[in-house]
Amino acid sequence: MKAIARPIYRALKTFPVSQRGTIIIFIPVACLLTSLGALFWLKASLGEDEAWVQHTQQVRLESKHLLAALIDAETGVRGYGLTKQEKFLTPYNQALQEIPNALADLKDLVDDNPQQTERLRTIRLLVNETLFVLHQKRTLQGELKKLNGVREVMVPTAQLYDWLEEGKEVMSATRAEIDLFAQEEERLLSERQQHQAFYRQVTWGVLYFSAAIGIGSGMLAIQLFRQLQQEIREQQIDLEQTNQKLKQACDRLQRFTANASHELRNPLASILNHAQVGLMAPSEDDTVPRQRLEKIVMLTKSMSMLVSQLLFLARNDGKLIDESLQAIDLVQLLKPLAKEWSIEASERSLHFKIDFPAHRVMVRADPNLLPQAVGNLLGNACRYTPSGGSLTFRLSNRSYHALIEVEDTGIGIADKDLPHIFEQFYRVRSNRNKAKGGFGLGLAIAEQIVRVHHGQITVKSELDKGSTFAIVLPLLSED
Ligand code: ADP
Repeated sequence: MKAIARPIYRALKTFPVSQRGTIIIFIPVACLLTSLGALFWLKASLGEDEAWVQHTQQVRLESKHLLAALIDAETGVRGYGLTKQEKFLTPYNQALQEIPNALADLKDLVDDNPQQTERLRTIRLLVNETLFVLHQKRTLQGELKKLNGVREVMVPTAQLYDWLEEGKEVMSATRAEIDLFAQEEERLLSERQQHQAFYRQVTWGVLYFSAAIGIGSGMLAIQLFRQLQQEIREQQIDLEQTNQKLKQACDRLQRFTANASHELRNPLASILNHAQVGLMAPSEDDTVPRQRLEKIVMLTKSMSMLVSQLLFLARNDGKLIDESLQAIDLVQLLKPLAKEWSIEASERSLHFKIDFPAHRVMVRADPNLLPQAVGNLLGNACRYTPSGGSLTFRLSNRSYHALIEVEDTGIGIADKDLPHIFEQFYRVRSNRNKAKGGFGLGLAIAEQIVRVHHGQITVKSELDKGSTFAIVLPLLSED
């Protein structure tokens, strides 16, 4: 069933979810209605058959009735003729009353059949003729009685046989016509039954077929409904996940905005303070305003750095597309950076060791962004390593990856802080005063840059011993 359901479901998927339920339910409902229709028709047809059988039986009964009445009349008159006893005329008289009723009943029964009505008319004529003959015989008997005065006279034996034979012919014709009439009804019944039997067979076929299709499609519908339910459940999960992501993004944005405004408000307040104090200083002494102005310049520089970092994060959040990445040799890309930071390190009395391979290390990278990420790591290593410490800037390649490492022997990071240092605006509390830290955005920016390069950034650190930051990037095959 599942094998049949799958392609049907695939075809159904082209319809919107709201219409799919209606389509799925349509076939079994249509089959159910067809089966019900066929059942009703069968029931009605059986009822009609019953009515026809009853009708034919009634016609047969009335025909027999008519025939019996005629025979009674004939027997009565014959008995009277032979015995001259009045009691023999009783069935004759009864028959005279019954015959018109039987004829009328038969007329009603075959009223809708012109052929049978015509036949009945013939029967009526024959019956009348028979009755006329019987009537004549009876009258003749009466006259014979009268002729012989008081004594009853029997029919002369010489005439008796002729007398008995008289009317026999018309009686047999009447009987034959009544038989024919009844047979025709039987024939009509069997013809109709044959006809009905054919239609009934067809209806049974339709009933079986639609029931089979109905049951099959019902089961199919259940299967399809299950798949639909599954799909809706999956969509719901997707929706929930998207909602969750959206919520996280909103929360991140809210945190980011709050942190950013906090970071901007502090230096702005400081700038205002320095400017106001500088304005209040006596005009002949220019050392105070100068110092204040220098502070303002320093604060403004730091603010401008913060703003550019914020802008960077906002502009590049996951937007780097593959086209802006190009095949680059990391050795060539990172050499100038190593030179730049070795100068900075020596200014800070730090040992700076460069460990680069002699061969090329090819990756796909943005030549402007990647050095910025590595530069942030080198900057941190310089800032958080006290004078006399040492830094190692290492580049190597593993089977499928390039590995850039920045190792220092600085202050290190506590275990509790390690999971958070890549979050925006996160700064280790104890470091805030110890070293001139930034805004807690450097590692977040580095992480964002590495992510869009399909790489990974990790850290190993031990408090008071030093840290190693590592960037792993997929190697570019050189064939
Ligand atoms: P910041 O600009 O404040 O340095 P980062 O995002 O670059 O911000 O770093 C986040 C925090 O991680 C820093 O405040 C610092 O406490 C810690 N950190 C980063 N690099 C090092 C390192 N090499 N040694 C010790 N602590 C570090």
